[in-house]
Order: sequence, then C-alpha cells, then structure tokens
Amino acid sequence: MSKKFASQKLIVGNWKMNQSLIDIDLFFEQLIKNKDKIDCNFWIAPQYIHIPKLLSFKSYLPKLFCVGGQNASHKESGAFTGDISSKALKDIGCDFVIIGHSERRSFFRESDEIINVKIETALKNNLKVIFCVGETLQERDGDHTKDVIKNQIVKGLKGLSSKQLSEIIIAYEPVWAIGTGKNATVKEAEEVHRFIRNELTSSVGLNPDELIVLYGGSVNPENIDALLASPDIDGALVGGASLKINDFLKLCYASSTRTSSEKK
Ligand code: PEP
Repeated sequence: MSKKFASQKLIVGNWKMNQSLIDIDLFFEQLIKNKDKIDCNFWIAPQYIHIPKLLSFKSYLPKLFCVGGQNASHKESGAFTGDISSKALKDIGCDFVIIGHSERRSFFRESDEIINVKIETALKNNLKVIFCVGETLQERDGDHTKDVIKNQIVKGLKGLSSKQLSEIIIAYEPVWAIGTGKNATVKEAEEVHRFIRNELTSSVGLNPDELIVLYGGSVNPENIDALLASPDIDGALVGGASLKINDFLKLCYASSTRTSSEKK
C-alpha cells in the first residue's frame, strides 16, 4: 500500500448477509450528509447484489470511500455455479475484496490453500485484498495463537511477489471475538499485530510503514478509541457496528482524528 494511504486509518464495514435497499438508502442519506466530518479511509463490503447500489453513491462521497466484495472465487471464470469472480468484481467497479474471513473458513470449509489461490486471483485482477487471519478460543487457550497466525500467513500468502504483497491488508480477527461482543484487549490485539508486522517485514521484506494491519472482532464506538490509539492498529474490520449509520459514523470520526504522525 502506498505510504500516503497507509498513513490514514481505515474502517471497513463487512455487512455480511444484511441490509435491504431501504436500509441502504437511509444509511447513505446520513453518510453523505456527514461526509465532510470524515477524514479516514472508509470502505464497505455489502452483499454482492447491492454492490451497484453502493457504487451509485460514490460520486457523492470523497475518494476515501470504496466498495468491495466479501469473498471471490478462486477461479477466473467458468462452470462454477453460484460463484462470483474477482474479474466481475473489478469490472463492476469494486476496489477490494475480503478473503479468508473466519465465516468462510468455518461454514464453507475454505482451506489455507484455496484462500491462497483466491488472493492470487484477486490481485491478478487488480483488487486490493483484505486477508483475514485469527485463532479460535481453543487455540488461544492452548497458547497456539502465534503458531496459528504464522501458519495462516505463510500458507495464505505463499508464492506472492513483494509487489503483490504490498496490495494486501491483513485483518487480525480472533474468531472468539467476532460477533460475540467480546473484543480482544488492546494489549492482546497489539501483541498479535506486532507479531504479524514482524513476520511480514522480516520474512517477506515488506516496508513496515506501508503494511496495514486491521483489528476485527466486536469493534464498536465504545472501544474504537482505545484500539486506534495503538500505533500498531491501523484501523478496524467491523461487522455488527457497521450496519448502523450512527455507529459507523462514530467509528469513522474516531479514525479521522488519528494522524500519520501517530503511526508506528
Ligand atoms: C467481522 O465479521 O469481520 C466482524 C469483525 O464482526 P463483528 O464486528 O460483528 O464482531
């Protein structure tokens, strides 16, 4: 990621399988009204079918706003009924895609190997990738967090060039904190973020200033300030709280007050 982009905090709303067309209209009416108060990158990944609707609001918002997919196929095209390709996401105007979310890993049995191919295919199609990693509660309790994260990173990013890696944003999402209302403490999140940063900068040679590591897991307007105060936390991937415009705006405002000088 460019230094300039990485110097700003990033809030990504993962809407999952939620929101109706009416919800979206009401959400964007408020978002557009308050756009001048937002000075951070703010991205949203809606259901595929709503992507064109969100894209239609782009011209009313600053360039900091981007739309993306919650997943994409490992294949470029072909007989894969029900799948959506990275190429189609790019074609329609998406800027990014989330790959390897824990719900994809658990409900749809996505392996590290398939995630690796999905990432490569998305990058080939010029999408930025938000690559999710995270341990289960059992793995954390067994003191395996770093081994699990390292394994996910090594396998998920296998074979990618440093240029490709520079288009990747890592989202550390402890599985036990997703949708549970139980977020990691700043200290717990920081420790893993530092570990991820070290792994990627020492083994792959990425520039630490340009590497973006987001935290995800029950982020809300009450805990965002403490999380973003950490120089190792570059922003948040948010599920539940991104669905409500007032909460989403509060997350964006909290991120807008953070400047590049606070980073690392
Ligand atoms: C997520 O799904 O990526 C997520 C972090 O959800 P929530 O914020 O609801 O925990």
